[in-house]
Amino acid sequence: MEFTVVRNYASASEPGGVRSTSSVSLLSRRASTLFALAAIAALSTVSCATNPATGGHNVVLTTVKGEQDQARRVHQEIIQFYGLYEDQSVQDYVQRVGARVAAQTPIANWNFKFFVLDDDEVNAFTPGGGYVYIHRGLLNYLNSEAELAAVLGHEIGHDVARHPARTETRSVLMSVGAVAAAIASGSEAIAQMANIGATAWFQGYGRENEMEADRLGLTYAAKAGYRPEAMASTFKALRSQESFELQQAKAESRQPNIYHGVFSDHPAPDARVIQATQGAAHISQPPNGWLDNRDAYMHAIEGLPYGSSREQGIVRDNRFYHEGMALTVAFPRGWTVNNLRDRLLVYTKQKDALLQITTEKRPEKQSPREFLLSKLKGGGFSRGADISVDGMEGYTLITRAGSPLDSGEGPVRWAALYRDKSVFLIGGASRSSANGAPVDDGIFMSCVETMRHLKPAEYPLAQPYRLKIVRVEGPIKLGDYVKNVPDEKFQQERLELLNGLYPKGEPRPGDFLKVID
Ligand SMILES: [Zn+2]
Repeated sequence: MEFTVVRNYASASEPGGVRSTSSVSLLSRRASTLFALAAIAALSTVSCATNPATGGHNVVLTTVKGEQDQARRVHQEIIQFYGLYEDQSVQDYVQRVGARVAAQTPIANWNFKFFVLDDDEVNAFTPGGGYVYIHRGLLNYLNSEAELAAVLGHEIGHDVARHPARTETRSVLMSVGAVAAAIASGSEAIAQMANIGATAWFQGYGRENEMEADRLGLTYAAKAGYRPEAMASTFKALRSQESFELQQAKAESRQPNIYHGVFSDHPAPDARVIQATQGAAHISQPPNGWLDNRDAYMHAIEGLPYGSSREQGIVRDNRFYHEGMALTVAFPRGWTVNNLRDRLLVYTKQKDALLQITTEKRPEKQSPREFLLSKLKGGGFSRGADISVDGMEGYTLITRAGSPLDSGEGPVRWAALYRDKSVFLIGGASRSSANGAPVDDGIFMSCVETMRHLKPAEYPLAQPYRLKIVRVEGPIKLGDYVKNVPDEKFQQERLELLNGLYPKGEPRPGDFLKVID
């Protein structure tokens, strides 16, 4: 969690009811960047390009140069939002495999770039221009280099067929907007979390285009020497992950975490598996046989985080642990702890109470009280008090308005705590209020009071769960390896899903097995 300055619901009402514009100006700066992007996109001529994959002509909304320029710009937003996975050897490995597949395309001169995002979503996407992103969460579910080549081949296929350029530019920009808005505005972050998964790149480019990207990806990966059956096996593994995740998400009333490429609405997963299977059957094997490179893949992903990474901080039993900040804080049981790159957002199932923690650089000459008041731009407040929590000096108050859960009308609890060179800024808002305070004010304050330094014995708790690779030798049962899986109810299922063994499969001697350490 690398915090940046945010002024989310700091837009409390000024005395007399005039709304401060601090959050508005941040948002509109973002928005103007987006408008600039939209204008550039609109200015580039709508042209008819030859689709290098099919030789046919497609209407595209931007030139190749326009698409590449836009992808370069969007790249910064994506990196800022998700962060790159820290391990350069994993980045290099994915780049090597992707480049090998991209070299087989008619647009190899685009110099494709591949990035592993520090995020446990099961997804991969391309905004066009030769930029391809894979979330580390998807890497957890693949079982060979050939499967990775199939996923990257699919994304490369989108670029070759110019799907991003042919998609209404507005929808691509809207998804950038969703990312940017989520960064800029904590008050909108909850809404955005739900929406990010619903935008164009993340959901795919529609049935025909997805099927086309599959066909192209299969061809390029096979030309690069990778076993073509890998695409079908990838789809099957991800389809299992999807159906399991959909069940879980429904039971927990949350958004599912699934790969756009496979599913649900369109195209039917089976249609894609069938196409991939039939496509593979028509490709003849090279003289030296197909590459799976299971060993190389397992070696590359050994140690990959399962869930949050160390940089993001780890949640265990509703307590958050962050090694870099040497901090831990507890939240009420049953509240969802959403660990975003730039903030910690904690909220109830009904989303009627929300607590957010960010950090920023401690100002040199301001007291905690002065710091908070300058943040809130003199908005009306009450119940100001000095506080001290685990040796951290701070100040707390309640603003009269600003609650994002109450159309900006309800009160917000704020607290600032100084430690070393940082300030922890905590905001708590409810959907309703009582006696001029958020109804959950007592809970917010007790969360603040649980903030403290990590004890030496707690550092291991700040380490992520990681994949460990086991070579199956004798007759073993998956059940022998479930004890570390951080999902009490579905330990066996989680391991089956990670290993392409769902439902009820068992490893065979000689297999690699991914377990959780
Ligand atoms: Zn796709």
